[in-house]
Amino acid sequence: MRVILLLLLGSTCATAPAHGTWSDRTLRAAEDGVLCAHRVPAASCVLDHPELAADFKRAGDWCGEHSVPESQCLICHPDLTFDPLPALTSTADVRWLTNDGAAVGPLPALHVTGKVTVVDFYADWCAPCRKVDRHLFTLSNARNDLAVRKLNVVSWETALAKEHLRDVPTLPFLVVYARDGREVKRVSGFDLAALDAALAEASR
Ligand SMILES: [Zn+2]
Ligand SMILES: [Zn+2]
Repeated sequence: MRVILLLLLGSTCATAPAHGTWSDRTLRAAEDGVLCAHRVPAASCVLDHPELAADFKRAGDWCGEHSVPESQCLICHPDLTFDPLPALTSTADVRWLTNDGAAVGPLPALHVTGKVTVVDFYADWCAPCRKVDRHLFTLSNARNDLAVRKLNVVSWETALAKEHLRDVPTLPFLVVYARDGREVKRVSGFDLAALDAALAEASR
């Protein structure tokens, strides 16, 4: 049964969770940057705090095979990283437009007038998304002509995913707009070189 499920998931996205759903409990605990010996955020580690397991299980965030939360299972998700993201400065223009996979309507309407704009489709279970976030957050702290609009897809079944990701093979999915609103490029997956090239073109 698991094999069939994996095949189905594999056909739509290489990074979709294999089992268990993801809650934000682990990533929320990552904000203080303290990791335990198990390489997960210390405050949320169920191996150190077994009393937390029931809450993760109730949220469906549980890997039954390895007896840890799905969002902490480094066996199922070996490239997970919990290093804290750079703190955003007061001038960084980074905003979350949806956190629950709600539809957002046509993407060009999300362009911010006069700014290079990156529309950033991501999910908490997407490790490459977090690496791209690190890059985008650092850039946003350094330049005030850049706007990042974050859209939490949550899963491939949400209204947002059905609205915009039907033909997108993997997350993150980034749509880059120039200052004048012209769409410059779409980047799918972890490709910082392509993202930087798109940003350079958008900034011309
Ligand atoms: Zn631990
Ligand atoms: Zn697992």
